[in-house]
Amino acid sequence: MDAEVKALEEQLAEERGVLNSLRESLKRLEERLTIDRATVGAADKQRNDLHIDIRTMTQQVEHSREKLNRSRTERETNAAQRELEELRKLIRDREDEITRLDTDTAAIRTAVETTEAEHKRISEELAAKEGDIQLKVTKLEADKSERGGGRDSIVKRLPAVLYRRYEQLRGKRGTAIAQTTDGTCNKCNMALPPQLYHRLRREPLIEQCQMCNRIIYFSAPVSVTEVTKVD
Ligand SMILES: [Zn+2]
Repeated sequence: MDAEVKALEEQLAEERGVLNSLRESLKRLEERLTIDRATVGAADKQRNDLHIDIRTMTQQVEHSREKLNRSRTERETNAAQRELEELRKLIRDREDEITRLDTDTAAIRTAVETTEAEHKRISEELAAKEGDIQLKVTKLEADKSERGGGRDSIVKRLPAVLYRRYEQLRGKRGTAIAQTTDGTCNKCNMALPPQLYHRLRREPLIEQCQMCNRIIYFSAPVSVTEVTKVD
């Protein structure tokens, strides 16, 4: 009974492990997305600021043009033209800056899209698996309590000393019970002292293997009989 519960618990742990590793992957993707989105966001803000600059400067260009039209002396004309050229250069610089920003962030924008797609795929896989595994876990839990359910009443019937020894061994070795059919312990494979083996065979005794200390009893060998059915 305890061996079956143990196997079920191992299976449960394995299923939960699968879910956890998927959740871990999602977490890593989310962290990457946070960083990349922040980079893209900062670039977008910078880009926006540059556009505002360009708009302001375009208005100043209009202003300088009017000045140029109104200029009466050569000095005024030259000054207005220089102003215009200067402004146009500043606008070009900002346009170049925007192009550079777009080029620099293109790869990150693509990476964000790829990561988002991967995140979606794993989320869906996780959702599907969670459903599956939840069903399995519920069933395993039910099996487990069913298997373990009668345990308490059995424990009550055992001598306290024997049960304590059983629990100690189970804690230390995983399994507490061994059998012998041929004079060796089926858990540690060591030969039992012949006298002990004979006593175990003769009477329904509970002893301990002297090598691994497991509680050992004699189990008659199962004779394999071939049955040929003729209908
Ligand atoms: Zn043994």
